[in-house]
Amino acid sequence: MISMGRARVPLVLSVGVLAASASLPVRGQNAPRAWAIVGGMVADGLGGPLRQATVRIVADRIVAVGAVEPQAGDAVVNARGLVVAPGFIDIHNHSSGELAADPAAESQVAQGITTAVLGPDGSSPWPIGEFLDERRKSPAALNVAVMVGHATVRRLVMNDDFRRVARPDEVARMAALVEQGMREGAVGLSSGLEYEVGGYADTSELVALASVAARYHGIYMSHIRDEADKAFDAFREAIAIGERAHIPVEISHIKLGTVGVWRKAAEAIALVEAARRRGVDVTADAYPYNAWSSTITVLVPDKRYDYPPSVEKALADVGGAQNVLIVRHAAHPEYEFHTLDAVARDRHLSPVELFIQIVKDGGAGVVCTSMVDDDIRAFYRQPWVMVGSDGGINARHPRGAGTFPKVLGRYVREQKWLTLPDAVAKMTRLPADRLKLTDRGRLASGAVADVVLFNPDTVVDRSTFSDPTVLPAGIERVFVSGDLVWDAGKPAGGRSGKVIVGTAELSVR
Ligand SMILES: [Zn+2]
Repeated sequence: MISMGRARVPLVLSVGVLAASASLPVRGQNAPRAWAIVGGMVADGLGGPLRQATVRIVADRIVAVGAVEPQAGDAVVNARGLVVAPGFIDIHNHSSGELAADPAAESQVAQGITTAVLGPDGSSPWPIGEFLDERRKSPAALNVAVMVGHATVRRLVMNDDFRRVARPDEVARMAALVEQGMREGAVGLSSGLEYEVGGYADTSELVALASVAARYHGIYMSHIRDEADKAFDAFREAIAIGERAHIPVEISHIKLGTVGVWRKAAEAIALVEAARRRGVDVTADAYPYNAWSSTITVLVPDKRYDYPPSVEKALADVGGAQNVLIVRHAAHPEYEFHTLDAVARDRHLSPVELFIQIVKDGGAGVVCTSMVDDDIRAFYRQPWVMVGSDGGINARHPRGAGTFPKVLGRYVREQKWLTLPDAVAKMTRLPADRLKLTDRGRLASGAVADVVLFNPDTVVDRSTFSDPTVLPAGIERVFVSGDLVWDAGKPAGGRSGKVIVGTAELSVR
């Protein structure tokens, strides 16, 4: 159950002829077609100061933001004490496999997410067109967009023979698949270069494929090749790909994840800013946690998973085996939510021996505490860094249910790293601009009515590393295309999520 904090919002009142039912949820034929959200403080997504304004919605659009009166037929929402913001756009979301079974996406809309960009880290649904058609046929509560996954197309072309550089004919076939995906509506190309399939690609393969996405106005979004000791080489590679392929670059979940690079955020920022000054369109997203979640093998960058000295260094680099929490291990589910260190002691093994055994037994999902707050704060303070969850439905990391409320509750209210309007901009207008969505990510007349109402005094994450799916507090109401999808701590039943597609139109370059 969700506690809603002290400022419980009164039920919708109705005025005038439509006299919408006072018992929520309302939807379908009986749903109000017009809303007036009154008395709230508007954070319009552009980063300016909060201001008191009424937001009127008619059908799926915002029709006014300002000193306007509710009109006859409006369902009136009292937003006193609340912030009214554009719906949050999560540029890095792993829910593509879950939406069919969980279209309500409660853990996502409970955070205020109204648009999820799926298919990150090089892994996407396929074919893109079929996936999007299914979302059109059975809409989710939130909007979706999708990237073409580099590893997905690489695997389609190379099958199991992917542990090598691709031949030119193979790159050409991958390029054709990327083109197909873009034509079917993808918004860009994603890569996961720290992972098994994508990691064997050389830079020129990525340039070739990113160039195809660029021709269709897509972006290149990358989980870069290394987020640890060689992170700086990996930043340079991502920037080079953008420069050579003439494509905007989004560095996914920017981080400095080993002892050797801790507190070097200023250098990473300087590298990105130098690229931006020479015209490369580089941006990044970050999740608000000092622990990452991935497969256990990414700890060992030289991929020698059974070579004790490599494993030993890997564990030292993240500060020790006590920083590695096993969250998924099919061969021994009893290890889950225990640290590598604790399980090793229990089994009378060294952490290195246990690591090698786990990889032999099929590998594991881990959450690894290996970043420092100084770097997270420095990244978040950059105007080109947005909020992205890297989570999704059923994620085994608290970011899956806590990212957006955590930024608002911890980084804005408690620690004052960011102002509230800045944080909202990082959740709305920045990702909208990155994806060239001109009618989302802002509260303005004419924009799509994806709207979040949250309580700035109570909004906070409640998911933890040991209990990662607990829903947050303080997100009071969420509208998607003018339809109520979240109301006072509960799903409201709306399923108005749209499919957002790229332009699919070949640029003249
Ligand atoms: Zn990633």
